[in-house]
Amino acid sequence: MNYNTFLIKYAEIGTKGKNRYKFEDVLCQQIKNHVAHLGEFSIRREYGRIFLYAESEYDFEDLIKELQKVFGIVGICPIVVEQDVNFESVKNSVLAYVKEAYGDRTLTFKVNARRTNKKFPMGSMEMNSELGHHILETFPNMKVDVHKPDVLLNVEVRNEVYIYSHIIKGAGGLPVGTNGKAMLLLSGGIDSPVAGYMISKRGVELEAVYFNAPPYTSERAKQKVVDLARIVSGYSGKIRLHIVNFTDIQLAIYEKCPHEELTIIMRRYMMKIAEEIAKKNNCQALITGESIGQVASQTMHSLACTNEVCTMPVFRPCIGMDKQEIVDISEMIDTYETSILPYEDCCTIFVAKHPVTKPILDIIKRSETKLVDVIDGLMQTALDTVEVVEARVQDLQA
Ligand code: ATP
Ligand code: MG
Repeated sequence: MNYNTFLIKYAEIGTKGKNRYKFEDVLCQQIKNHVAHLGEFSIRREYGRIFLYAESEYDFEDLIKELQKVFGIVGICPIVVEQDVNFESVKNSVLAYVKEAYGDRTLTFKVNARRTNKKFPMGSMEMNSELGHHILETFPNMKVDVHKPDVLLNVEVRNEVYIYSHIIKGAGGLPVGTNGKAMLLLSGGIDSPVAGYMISKRGVELEAVYFNAPPYTSERAKQKVVDLARIVSGYSGKIRLHIVNFTDIQLAIYEKCPHEELTIIMRRYMMKIAEEIAKKNNCQALITGESIGQVASQTMHSLACTNEVCTMPVFRPCIGMDKQEIVDISEMIDTYETSILPYEDCCTIFVAKHPVTKPILDIIKRSETKLVDVIDGLMQTALDTVEVVEARVQDLQA
């Protein structure tokens, strides 16, 4: 069937009063941004609903796939619109719809009529039974099941009549732009892209920061992070990726601090720099891909030490997840294949054989005093030489 109208369903959570309009405005804008490259579309809002109209040729599968990336949408219903609001026309449209969508397959169905247009002479109950009767008569293989039907046929009578039975699941969440902006610490691994996706799903815009360590890490490792940002931007919208040259800071730590504390101290400087960049760019929080106990730097003690340098909230949506659960999400959002490319990142080069798993904050701080002569200058240089890349999904190389 060729559909050119879609009813977009969204959750009502947090959408009361004034917020509701803001929420709908942002959602409509997000839908427009997402579908713009697939053809001509227009959007209409009515009765607290969003309708998307195709004004040109488009590919159905591509459109659905794209709409499933828009946070805030819970369901996508391809609908048939009957403009002639009288029973005979509605009946004919319903029968034509059932024929196209289901042929004469052996299925159970239930009609779910809803009449809000009081000018229409027939009530909802009466429509259910009349339409049900005509369907049974026309399609001998179809049977009624009012409890668990295979096909729930919705017929909504308003100023026009909407007929639909497919509700394609959307991503859920809240539209990006309704809940501020956060800075994602994006490495080339599996976890941080998933963490960014999850926070963005709550309506949060993303910027990202990557700590690069040339020449210890390759150009390809950096490209991989740019690609990950581009994939995540397919959901979150454009991501400004700040690439920090972290080499000199890492070398200084390596030279002056106890090796078993390298990772913790390095992570503390990463968080400090990330927070500086976040503040400058109006972000209200940081995001990391940490998960309790996954590695030495993610024990509770280690997390407490890294967290101590931050004044902003740090969101760690993977914190309670097993690796496999994180992998499952990364496969779903299509970052997995890129994340497992084998290019080293800066943490893997400067790792100690036996990192501390229960760092004590006072001891770590004492070790950091060894950097006192150089660290302010190095941090300033790192901040002054940040490279910014605008990551957009359209720029992904196939
Ligand atoms: P990931 O799979 O996200 O790389 P990981 O399991 O490798 O995580 P770590 O290397 O300990 O874990 O990093 C923990 C978190 O710190 C990452 O999820 C990420 O948010 C941040 N991080 C680590 N390395 C970098 C980096 N080079 N640039 C930016 N952020 C980083
Ligand atoms: Mg990593």
